[in-house]
Amino acid sequence: ARKAALSASSGPGATSDGHKVPLLANIGGPSDVPAAVEAGAEGVGLFRTEFLFLDDSKQAPSEEKQIAAYRAVLEAFPEGRVVVRVLDAGADKPLDFLTPADEPNPALGVRGLRSLLDHPDVLRTQLTALAKAAAGLPVYLEVMAPMVADRTDAKAFADACREAGLSAKFGAMVEIPSAALRARSILQEVEFLSLGTNDLAQYTFAADRQVGAVSRLQDPWQPALLDLVALSAESAKAEGKSCGVCGEAAADPLLACVLTGLGVTSLSMGAASIPYVRSTLAKHTLAQCERAAAAARATDTAEEARAAAQAVLSGE
Ligand code: PEP
Ligand code: MG
Repeated sequence: ARKAALSASSGPGATSDGHKVPLLANIGGPSDVPAAVEAGAEGVGLFRTEFLFLDDSKQAPSEEKQIAAYRAVLEAFPEGRVVVRVLDAGADKPLDFLTPADEPNPALGVRGLRSLLDHPDVLRTQLTALAKAAAGLPVYLEVMAPMVADRTDAKAFADACREAGLSAKFGAMVEIPSAALRARSILQEVEFLSLGTNDLAQYTFAADRQVGAVSRLQDPWQPALLDLVALSAESAKAEGKSCGVCGEAAADPLLACVLTGLGVTSLSMGAASIPYVRSTLAKHTLAQCERAAAAARATDTAEEARAAAQAVLSGE
């Protein structure tokens, strides 16, 4: 029992019967790396590169500045996995030189990958900087695009990665319901999926993530959201590819078990949540997680889903 307790407080993420679920950190830059290492993160599952662009909203940071920041993060996880998300500007993160000023509905406008495809020079500089930063390092670099809507988006991103000479895996975030519904078609262009459950909830329920009055609909336990997670994970499995979660949902220990039961292959979260998720996951078998996931999906509300999963996992 002591050995089990020890392994649950450090080491790789896994269910009690040894089904591995890598636990990765969400970071905003090199300054978040020490906390991630301290929490025993097995790598980075979401490097939000927006922070690099916040100093100057008139222009993109130079290639040199980007290389230095990317290298500092990549060097911290030798032989680990680092998933870098290209710039996600627009909506709640507007940048003067990228985001149209007159959008009536910025969350539905030119944001994420859309703004990068409109500014291919910005995307090219970022991808080239990543390629140079990773050169000669043993790290497993993966690069993903935010706000991929369909196969056309995924292909445009993969083409840009290839043109920049990036030797990394290219992936797509699933943040828009269309991407979950057609995940298998998107996976013809990219090698992995990562569910951004914050935006996926926003777009599934037409509920602005910044508006408290609709927060009920932002609950990641909503069965409709669980259905889209399941569809994405099943699609990835059918294509022999991986599907992680990097939204806030992964930081809820009980929900992390349910996501595992739905077939999600890695969980990325703020470093502070990693120990709790690791120890909760280590208490349950994969079969229990699958039963909890099925019970949650059989309900009609977030509250019922949470209670149903809790009942299964506590053996009631
Ligand atoms: C998400 O939408 O779930 C996500 C991880 O991206 P962000 O929160 O940065 O939009
Ligand atoms: Mg998002």
